[in-house]
Amino acid sequence: MYEARIAPPSPEPQPSLTPMMAQYFEIKAANPGYLLFYRMGDFYELFFEDAEIASAALGIVLTKRGKHLGQDIAMCGVPIHAAQDYLKKLISLGHRVAVCEQVEDPAEARKRGSKSVVKRDVVRLVTAGTLTEDDLLPARGANFLASLAMVRHGEADFALAWADVSTGETHVSDLSPETLGDELARIGPAELVLTETTRAVLVERHLLPPALASTLSLVPAESFDSEAATGLLREALAGEGGDPTAFSRAARAALGALFAYVRESQKGVAVALRAPTSENTGRLMAIDQATRASLELLESQRGGEKGSLRHAIDLTVTAAGGRLFAQRLAAPLADAAAINSRLDAVERLAGDTMLTGRLRAELKAAPDLARALTRIALERGGPRDLAAIGTAVTAALALGQRLTEAGDLPQDLKEIAATLSGAPQSLASELSLAIDDDPPLIARDGGFTRKGYDADLDAERALGSETRGVVAALQARLIAETDVKSLKIKHNGVLGYFVEVPAGHGGKLLEEPHRATFIHRQTLASAMRFTTTELAELEGRIARAHEAAIEIEGRIFARLCAEVLARTGALRALADALAELDVATALAHLAATRGYTRPQVDTSLAFDIEAGRHPVVEPMVAEAGQSFVANDCDLSGDEAGGGALWLVTGPNMGGKSTFLRQNALIAILAQMGSFVPATRAHIGVVDRVFSRVGASDDIAHGRSTFMVEMVETAAILNRATRRSLVILDEIGRGTATFDGLSIAWATLECLHETTGCRTLFATHFHELTSLQKTLSRVANVTMKVREWEGDVVFLHEVVRGAADRSYGIQVARLAGLPEPVLNRARHVLTLLEQRAAGAGSSAMPGAVLDDLPLFAHQPPPEKAMPRTDPVHDLLDTIRPDDITPKDAIEFLYELKTIRDAAR
Ligand code: ADP
Ligand code: MG
Repeated sequence: MYEARIAPPSPEPQPSLTPMMAQYFEIKAANPGYLLFYRMGDFYELFFEDAEIASAALGIVLTKRGKHLGQDIAMCGVPIHAAQDYLKKLISLGHRVAVCEQVEDPAEARKRGSKSVVKRDVVRLVTAGTLTEDDLLPARGANFLASLAMVRHGEADFALAWADVSTGETHVSDLSPETLGDELARIGPAELVLTETTRAVLVERHLLPPALASTLSLVPAESFDSEAATGLLREALAGEGGDPTAFSRAARAALGALFAYVRESQKGVAVALRAPTSENTGRLMAIDQATRASLELLESQRGGEKGSLRHAIDLTVTAAGGRLFAQRLAAPLADAAAINSRLDAVERLAGDTMLTGRLRAELKAAPDLARALTRIALERGGPRDLAAIGTAVTAALALGQRLTEAGDLPQDLKEIAATLSGAPQSLASELSLAIDDDPPLIARDGGFTRKGYDADLDAERALGSETRGVVAALQARLIAETDVKSLKIKHNGVLGYFVEVPAGHGGKLLEEPHRATFIHRQTLASAMRFTTTELAELEGRIARAHEAAIEIEGRIFARLCAEVLARTGALRALADALAELDVATALAHLAATRGYTRPQVDTSLAFDIEAGRHPVVEPMVAEAGQSFVANDCDLSGDEAGGGALWLVTGPNMGGKSTFLRQNALIAILAQMGSFVPATRAHIGVVDRVFSRVGASDDIAHGRSTFMVEMVETAAILNRATRRSLVILDEIGRGTATFDGLSIAWATLECLHETTGCRTLFATHFHELTSLQKTLSRVANVTMKVREWEGDVVFLHEVVRGAADRSYGIQVARLAGLPEPVLNRARHVLTLLEQRAAGAGSSAMPGAVLDDLPLFAHQPPPEKAMPRTDPVHDLLDTIRPDDITPKDAIEFLYELKTIRDAAR
C-alpha cells in the first residue's frame, strides 16, 4: 500500500545545492510516494532513498554522485532502451514510478547560459492500474484500476468504479457492505484507489479481500467530492453522450476519483475512457468470494491458472477474446433470455465445424485492436499500433463477410456480422498503403512509411541515397587525385563525414597541392582525418534530406493517428465484436471437441443433469488413461416446496467432492452461455451459487478452521434464496463430533424447510441420512464402492441410498497405515458397532455415540506393536554375494518357518 511519503532531504535552498539538484528536489517533492526516474541523457537515474530501493529491487549497482549536506548522494540508473523491463519489475513488486523527461532541447538550455539546467517534467505516473504498454500488461487478463467511494447515508453505502485504462472500458456499480467484498474479488483490480477512512472501514469490517491488500493507493478525501466529480464527469463523457446525473451520488464520487486519478497519472494527455456502464448486479449470477475460490473458476486454490476451470476450457485465440472469456466466466448471467441468445450463437457455430474452424483461423490473425487504439489516443502509440489497427480492420471485414455468407444466423451473430462488415475499409486501405511491413515500434526515427505512399518523402529519401552514391564517387575521385589507395570516406557521430588516411599518408595531404583541398580535423595514432568543402556540402545535403524525411513521416504519422481517432467509436465496437466472436467460436469448439450439449435454460426450479461430468477432472482423468464416470443429478423442485436436497455419503476418495463441484460448474457454464459436459441438462436460472468446503484452514487471516466454516455457513443461510444452488461439502468437520453433527443437522433442516434452495450436501455424518424419513425433499445418495480381497475399489458412481459404512479403515490401508494400527482400529470399530446395535436401531443417532470415551475401558492392544519384523531382520543379516547356493536354499526354508510362526 502506498501513502504519500515525505520526500527525502527537504527542498529548502542550500548553498551547496547545484541547480540540477534543486530541480530534482522540486520534482521529487511534487510527486510523493513515487520512485523518480530522472532522465539524464540515455539513462533514467534514481537518487537518495529511491536509488537504494531500486538497486535492491532490480539488482543493479548502487553508485554515488556528488554530495548533499556533506553526505554522498546514492545513485543508480537504468538505460532508456531497457527501461520497460525495469519498470515492469518495479510495478510487479508494488512500487510506483514517476517518469521525468527532458522537455526541451539541451541546446535551448545552453542558450540561457552555461550553468542552466535542461527543463524537466514528469510526463507519466506509472502505477499497476494505469498501464497501457503491451510489455507491462497481462495479455489475456484485464488490468483494472478501481476506485471505491463510501457514503454515510443513502441507498447503498459504497460505489465502485473501475476501468481498464488499456482498453478504455469503464464500469460503475452501487454496492452494499454485503456485496462489496464479492464484487472486489470478482473484479480483482490491479490497483484500488480509496481514502484512508474507507480503508479503515474495510479492514474493520473484514470487507477487503486479502489479495487486494497490496494494491491500495490512498488519496485525499477531496478526490471523492461528488460535486466536483459531476463537472469532471461531464467533461470526460462529453464525446460519449453520457449523463453524469444518471448515476447515484456515490457512483459519481467513485467515477470522479477514478477519472481524476487516471488523468493525473497520464499528466494531461486526454485519456480515452468510455462512458461507464452501470453494472446492475441483479442481472448476474451472484458468486461470492469463498465460492469463487472453492470452485477454482479463474485460479486454482494453490494459486495460478493451472487447474482452474478457465485453464481447462478457455479455447479463445486472441488476447481480447481471452479477456472477455474470463469476464464472462467470472460473471455468468441470471437472465434466461440473455443466456439463451448466447447459447443460440454457440449452437449455430458448434453445428458447423467447418465455418468455426475457418473463423478461428482468421481470428488468430487479428491483433489486439482495443489496446493499440488506446495507445494511439494516449499519444503513446507507434507505427506498429497503426499497422495492428489496419490488420485488425482487414481481418474484421473478412470475418464479417464469412459470417454473412454462412447465412441463417441467430441474433447475436447477426449483430456481430453487421458490426464486422461495417469496419472502416478505407482506413484499413490507407494504413496498409502507408505503413511498411514490420514497422518499428516508435515513430520518432521515421523509417516506417511504405515507398510510393508520399511523393515528397520518396524524393527526400532518393536524395539521401543518391547523395550516398555521390559520396562513393567522391571517394574514388579523391583516391585518384591523391594516389592514396587506402583513403576512405567514413562517418561517425562526432565528426560526421570525414576523409581518413593511414597515419603514414597524412603528411602528404597536409602539403601542396593537396592542402588546398584537405582541411585537417583530427590526428590519431594510426590515422589522420580531414574534410573537404565538397564533402561538407554533401553532408549538409544528406542531413537536410534526412531531417526533411523525418519531418514528413512525422506529419504522416500524426495524420494517420487523427484518422484512426476520428473513428474511435467504430473501432471500439469492432474490437468488442471480434472478442465476442472469439468467445462464441471458442465455446463452439469446446462443445464440439469435448462432447458438451446445449443446456435447456428457463425460469423453472429445475436442476436435472443427465450423465454430467466434471469439466476439469474429466480431462485430467483421461490423461491418466482412465475414464471419467458420468453421474446424474436431479435437484428439481417446484414453486411450492422449493428444490430438492441430496445428501451424499460415501468413503473418502469416493468422488463426493468431484460430484458436488461438477454440478455447480455445470450451472455456471450454462449461465455464462456455454454448452455443458452432460448428455442432457435442464436448469432453471440460478440466482446465486454457493459452494463451501468444510475444514479448509485460513490461518493466515487469523480465523480458525471452524470459525471460517461457520462464518461461511452463516452467509449461505442468510443469503440463499429459493432460486439458489448450494453445495456444502463436509460442513461441521472442524469441531467435536457432536457439535459438528448438530450444526450440520440444523443447517440441513434450515435449507430444506426455510430456504428451499436446490442443495447438494456431502457429509461423513451417517446419522444425517435418517432425515430422509422426515424431510420430504431429502434424498440419500452414495458413492458406490466394491470390496475386493479386503481392499476397497471406488466406482465413482452415484447411486440411491446411504453408505452402509465409511470404509475409513480400508482407505487408511490403501494409504499405507501400519498393519498393527489398522488391526487395533478394526477392533475399536467392532466394539463401537456392537454398542450401537445394543442401543437399539430406533434410538437417535446421538444416543449411539453418547459414551464415546470408551477407549479408557478397553484392554491394551493384545500384542505390543512390534517395531520391526523378524523376516526383515533376517533379510538384513545376509549378503547374497557372500553365500553359496546351498546356504541360499536353507535361507529360504528359514524364512518360511519364521513366516509360519508369525501366523
Ligand atoms: P471425496 O470427496 O469423496 O473424498 P473426491 O471427489 O475428492 O472424493 O475424489 C477423489 C478422486 O477420485 C478424484 O481426485 C478423482 O481422481 C477421482 N474421481 C472422482 N470422481 C470421479 C469420477 N466420476 N470418475 C472418475 N474418477 C473420479
Ligand atoms: Mg471430499
